[in-house]
Amino acid sequence: MAHQWRGVIAEYADRLPAHVQERVITLGEGGTPLVPSPTLSQRTGADVFIKVEGMNPTGSFKDRGMTTAMSAAAGRGAKAVVCASTGNTSASAAAYATRAGMLCAVLVPDGKIAMGKLSQAIAHGATLLQVDGNFDDCLVAARKLAESYPVELVNSVNPDRIEGQKTGAFEIVDALGDAPDIHVLPVGNAGNITAYWKGYREYAGFDAGTAHAAVATRTPIMWGFQAAGAAPIVKGHPIDQPETIATAIRIGNPASWQQAEEARDVSGGLIEAVTDEQILAAHRVLSAEVGIFVEPASASGVAGLLKLSDEGRVPAGARIVITVTGHGLKDPQWALRTPDGSDVVPVRISSDVVSIATALGLD
Ligand SMILES: *Cc1c(COP(=O)(O)O)cnc(C)c1O
Repeated sequence: MAHQWRGVIAEYADRLPAHVQERVITLGEGGTPLVPSPTLSQRTGADVFIKVEGMNPTGSFKDRGMTTAMSAAAGRGAKAVVCASTGNTSASAAAYATRAGMLCAVLVPDGKIAMGKLSQAIAHGATLLQVDGNFDDCLVAARKLAESYPVELVNSVNPDRIEGQKTGAFEIVDALGDAPDIHVLPVGNAGNITAYWKGYREYAGFDAGTAHAAVATRTPIMWGFQAAGAAPIVKGHPIDQPETIATAIRIGNPASWQQAEEARDVSGGLIEAVTDEQILAAHRVLSAEVGIFVEPASASGVAGLLKLSDEGRVPAGARIVITVTGHGLKDPQWALRTPDGSDVVPVRISSDVVSIATALGLD
């Protein structure tokens, strides 16, 4: 039988803590495609690859951290988990809680949760509460709930989440044979940039507690991008009312703020902002020119790369990996709108083949 990917805990057992391996809760997450992009390489003069995290079981990278967080909770005999979520964490927590036979409570902010993510959480049987407040309020409430009641918090402030998510970096180095020159990704609550940086560090033989030979000869420069209306790290202060169409990164006070700055500074990288227009333009490039359908937040890394390229700041020939974080079907409405803002309406036509051929310009 051909090798079947076994999920990140089994695949990277020797690099993950023992307490997540007592009772493994997995849906086969990880092992996602690393797709070379001739289109983006040509546009930027670099050598660009895309790590397609929408291919995870619930359609986002959150599954990498959820398998470890949920396994740790299961190992401790937990019966219930809670998370605050802009959508994808709740979809993932709900699915993995189902797998573990646990109850799942989800706190989502008022308004603007993408329909695909909501339906996942509901379908998997989570108890969903829409909180009167933004994501940051939800996270504060979820933390307090977990402190005072018998439920475990599975947000990325849970260190087990970071452990699972660092495997994204491992897979990239395993595929390319070394770390890329630059790694690009969206930044919301900043767990993922923290996790990638940790994974790259460990594979390059840095940091205590890794009694392994180095797999990579170096670590990459980290480039993170926030949405302009939700860019606390760029601005240097929390944003009270974060606003962006990229709901997965609509976060005003990132939990892993300091770790994100450390990844940026130690790697010699940057964290900058991209506008919603730049995000939607990159979303269109990804779907119409590259062939990868993502949700808006996931396009912000590509938006950032294209912005820096336009400004002449992308080193020629650099090997660049961009993580696109979640699937386009999560939040599909953005594809049904033209760049000028009008709705896309399908052309209606009779079933007669000649008319169809004419409409297709085949005559
Ligand atoms: C969670 C999420 C992000 C942001 O990741 P952080 O770890 O919060 O920075 C970006 N895109 C998608 C699709 C997400 O689900």
